[in-house]
Amino acid sequence: MTEHIEKAEKHLLHTYNRYPVVWEKGSGCYLYDTDGKKYLDFVSGIGVFALGYQNAYFNDALKAQIDKIIHTSNYYYNLPAVRAAEGLTSLSGLERVFFTNSGTEAVEGALKAARKYAYRRDGRPGHEIIAMNRSFHGRTMGALAVTGTESYRTPFEPLIGPVNFADMNDFDSVYACVNGNTCAIILETVQGEGGIYPAEQAFLKKIRALCDEKDILLILDEIQCGFGRTGTMFAYEQYDIMPDILTCAKALGGGVPVGAFLLSGHVAEKSLVPGDHGTTYGGNPLATAAVNAVLDLFAEENIIDRVNQSALYLMECLDRLAGEYDVIVSRRGMGLLQGLEYREPVADIIKKALEKGLVLINAGANVLRFIPPLIITKEQIDEMMAILENIMSELYS
Ligand code: PLP
Repeated sequence: MTEHIEKAEKHLLHTYNRYPVVWEKGSGCYLYDTDGKKYLDFVSGIGVFALGYQNAYFNDALKAQIDKIIHTSNYYYNLPAVRAAEGLTSLSGLERVFFTNSGTEAVEGALKAARKYAYRRDGRPGHEIIAMNRSFHGRTMGALAVTGTESYRTPFEPLIGPVNFADMNDFDSVYACVNGNTCAIILETVQGEGGIYPAEQAFLKKIRALCDEKDILLILDEIQCGFGRTGTMFAYEQYDIMPDILTCAKALGGGVPVGAFLLSGHVAEKSLVPGDHGTTYGGNPLATAAVNAVLDLFAEENIIDRVNQSALYLMECLDRLAGEYDVIVSRRGMGLLQGLEYREPVADIIKKALEKGLVLINAGANVLRFIPPLIITKEQIDEMMAILENIMSELYS
């Protein structure tokens, strides 16, 4: 692998401090490096490969689509996009979909839709957005502007603005940011990159009521926490509220780059019109065939039920570990998006895990994140725990 890594470091732009491993192939919940070593994957490409690697149905669906047509243009209709849009609207309860190529582009579209809605309502531009501290929404200029980590934003300013930052689960801090120019509140139903912080029930309900009262749009970013990950198709279902705009990506395409933003009928009717937004690749037949294959597999393989069962077991195991070690502050999360917060950085644990054939990742310096494929089994959770317990006793006993 060393030779491949040296070449990569010579030619790829250094925007990541990568782990010293080169993946060659995957199968189910396992990855293999170019030296043939097998690893249990508890990262799934950060929530992307939710249905595991080399799923025969998924791969066959893509191959069949490649043999028909890969790309058209959004000036024409294509069958897989129509089917995918129908599937997504019926699952989400929202009415209109715009397909993108990534999560960050879905956020860009959501922000544009919110601004356009307020522009048409008030007959003037200049509307503000409220976002959360610790949030992560992407790396393009609009999504970065609403990302709650100052060090990510500062070198690239001026970004779109004004954006006012409040604290997740602190309604008063959100309320204090509202003014006559506010057009949207954007938040992750479960904050992912920022350290696995689920929105509290009362908080999200109050935000929804505030948005209704002031005609502010609620944008929920479920790019990481959506698509079955929390035990329902979308995490907001567990809060008994609806967003006005929803962003999705990651697991949506099961590994093929595709994202989407979805709008309520009311917002769709009163925001973007032809000429306001577009994309060359977004919603092409290959990407949306992937979405359709993912949706088929969710139904056929009872993915949501499986997540609920395995998540309960994962939480039980992580709680037990947290009870055994003082260095672990707490476990947080929903479904198969879990975090263990440590009193110190978790980088050494991740490094040791990789050496022992387990792929883990952090969410902030001190939080170990568990975001396995949604098809993970109880036996594989045991396998992960055995390695993690071994590392914990090496480092902390
Ligand atoms: N929003 C959330 C909640 C995310 O977790 C991410 C990526 O991690 C993004 C947006 C950006 O998605 P992408 O990397 O596909 O642009």
